[in-house]
Amino acid sequence: MYNEAQKLLLDWYAKNGRHDLPWRQTNDAYTIYLSEIMLQQTQVKTVLERFYFPFLERFPTLQSVADAPLDDVLKMWEGLGYYTRARNLHHTALTCKGILPQNPEELGGLKGIGKSTAHAICSFAYHQALPILDANVKRVLCRYFALSTKDEKALWEKAWKLLAVKHPYEHNQAMMDIGAMICTPKNPNCLACPLAFTCKGKDAPENYPKAVKKAKVPTKKRFALVVFQEGKLGLIQRKERLLHGLWGFVQIDEKPNTAHSLGSVSHTYSHFKLELEIIHDDALHVNVDGYFTEEEIENLALSTVDKKIIQKIFSPK
Ligand code: SF4
Repeated sequence: MYNEAQKLLLDWYAKNGRHDLPWRQTNDAYTIYLSEIMLQQTQVKTVLERFYFPFLERFPTLQSVADAPLDDVLKMWEGLGYYTRARNLHHTALTCKGILPQNPEELGGLKGIGKSTAHAICSFAYHQALPILDANVKRVLCRYFALSTKDEKALWEKAWKLLAVKHPYEHNQAMMDIGAMICTPKNPNCLACPLAFTCKGKDAPENYPKAVKKAKVPTKKRFALVVFQEGKLGLIQRKERLLHGLWGFVQIDEKPNTAHSLGSVSHTYSHFKLELEIIHDDALHVNVDGYFTEEEIENLALSTVDKKIIQKIFSPK
C-alpha cells in the first residue's frame, strides 16, 4: 500500500540526503550509538563542530570508554549538557564490556538506550528492518497519517507500516532528513516533499500533532559560595542526580548576613531556570571535596553554570 511513498522517499534520499554526515560513513555500532546519544538533545551542527570528533579522538572505541574513569568521560562531555547521557554511556560500556549487543531487545535493555535508539543502531550498523521514532520522525508520521496526538503506540504502528523493509537504513535516514529539512516544525515545505502525494496532513500540517502549550519553567534563586585557601578554589563533586559527578561550587538557599556579593550568573535547564548569586564569606566554614588552582580546574569536568562562575572570578569583565 505504501510502495509508491517508499519509492519516492528513497529516491529523494539518494538525491538529497545528508550522506556526508560522519556517522553515515561508517557501520561501526559504537560511533553510530555515540552520534545517536549526542543528537538526542543537541543539534547536528553543535555535535559536528564541537563534540563528536574530540570525543572519538579521546575514546575511539567503546572499550576505551569502559577503561576510562567516569570523570574523563564527563570532561569530554563538558558543555554538551544532559550529563546523564555521558553517565549512561559509561555505564553501558562497562555493562557490555566494550561490545554492544546486536539485537534490539538486548540493546534496549541497556541504560540510556530506548527502543528508537536501539532500532537506529541496528538499522544503521546492521541494516536490520526496524523503524525508528525520534522527535523528527514522530512529527513527519503525525502529519503524514494526520494524527493529532503523539501517541507512542499509534506512532510505532504507523512507523512499521511505512517502513521500506528492504532498505531500512536508507528509509530511516530519509525520514530523519525529511523531518530536519522539509517537514520542519514551522513552515514545512510540502512542495519539495516526496511524501506530499499521499500525505493526509499536508493541507493543515500545523494541526498534526496539535500544539501543546509549554508551561513556563520556574526560576530558582540560590547562592554559590566561593571558598579560597592559599590561592586555590574549594569545589565539591556533585552527588545529586542532575549534575552527578561534575565539579562545582557549593550552593546554598539562604545568603548569610556576613556574605558579600561577587556578581551573579544564570542558566536554564530543561525544567527550571537557575539564578545564582556568587558570594564569599570569610566567617563561614564550608566543607569542600578539594582545593584547585585555575590550571587544575581546567582539567576537571564542570557544569556550564559553574564554568560561568569561574569566568566571573578569573575574568570579571
Ligand atoms: S507533505 Fe508536508 S506535511 Fe506531509 S510529510 Fe511532507 S512536508 Fe510534512
